[in-house]
Amino acid sequence: MIDSARLGLPAFEPGHVWLVGAGPGDPGLLSALALHALDRADAVIYDALVDSRILRLARPGATLDYAGKRGGRPSPRQPDITALIIRQARAGHRVLRLKGGDPCVFGRGAEEALALVAAGIPFRIVPGITAGIGGLAYAGIPVTYRGTNSAVTFVTGHSSAGAVPDGVDWPAIARGSPVVVLYMALKHLPQIVERLIAGGRRRDEPAAIVSKASTPGQQVLVTTLEQLAGLAAAAETPAVVVVGEVVRLRAGLDWLGGLAGRRLDPAPLGGCGGC
Ligand code: SAH
Repeated sequence: MIDSARLGLPAFEPGHVWLVGAGPGDPGLLSALALHALDRADAVIYDALVDSRILRLARPGATLDYAGKRGGRPSPRQPDITALIIRQARAGHRVLRLKGGDPCVFGRGAEEALALVAAGIPFRIVPGITAGIGGLAYAGIPVTYRGTNSAVTFVTGHSSAGAVPDGVDWPAIARGSPVVVLYMALKHLPQIVERLIAGGRRRDEPAAIVSKASTPGQQVLVTTLEQLAGLAAAAETPAVVVVGEVVRLRAGLDWLGGLAGRRLDPAPLGGCGGC
């Protein structure tokens, strides 16, 4: 239970939907609003990537519905998920739509919110810590570093049709983004690596695969861009992939692995000129 009055949190009204990000896994990364929603919700509709430790925080008596979508497994269709949310809200329930990471980062949160707008159902969006930032932080990899990059790109490696997204301008990303963070990318990693190298990225550029970030099963594989594709099959899911010089910082910043405090020679970090 959190002291919602002291924090000045809004009431979770019956018939309202809260679209909430649960973060990458560690329950400690839940926001106060997310905990408040778990305390109050009558109905929780959750995704595949929501950690079971977080679901156990739901109010006893709340209904829990799985609405996960994961590649390769039978999953509910998006219109059915949206219909369930709307039905529960119209029944007067406080509906908590719980999603992994941030609901609006490759999570269809906005699509569901637009369906609520069309149905005239009041809602709130509660951001969560996205895997591409918080998950990397748990691996000791910052997404920006002053000496290295003043831009970062988050990109999905998987289109809604299941292919390498053609709408992504890979040559532009290769040229313009010193750090590239890839979601849902393991399946198509060989093609993605090829496109980044064809776009001018160094084959020996540091890269990492961070699997099950911020959970007890977290695994981090540090490698080079060239070797990345070969490691994809060995990596567990879910995983984020990061390409860029910031990966080198893990040598000093792996606080979870107990290395924090170790001195890192800044020399191996490639500079980015103006940043
Ligand atoms: N809304 C989510 C992303 C959903 S897309 C967010 O903001 O994090 C699903 C992808 O997210 C996965 O394929 C993986 O790339 C990434 N992901 C989610 N949770 C993760 C975790 N704990 N560790 C590593 N990657 C994760």
